[in-house]
Amino acid sequence: MMSEPLRIADKCVPTWQWYATEAWQKLREFVFVRDNFRCAECKKVIADKTMPICDHRRPHQGQPALFWSIENLITVCADCHDGVILLRKSSKR
Ligand SMILES: [Zn+2]
Repeated sequence: MMSEPLRIADKCVPTWQWYATEAWQKLREFVFVRDNFRCAECKKVIADKTMPICDHRRPHQGQPALFWSIENLITVCADCHDGVILLRKSSKR
């Protein structure tokens, strides 16, 4: 499980490209299933038509350890992600 992200980090791939990797696709699927597709903020079950978002609780700031940590990932709906969470992150330094 950890070998793939580490290999990616070794190659010095820019952070935004991590989102395009198969490892990330698998990781977020895992998080959605773990959380039963329920938004961690409003506790709504996310309907199929609105894609759930896999959010980093602590901004990863390019650190692989935070980016790839299952404990640091939560399922949120698009509304909460664009609302509460972005607000909270922008107010934090
Ligand atoms: Zn929500």
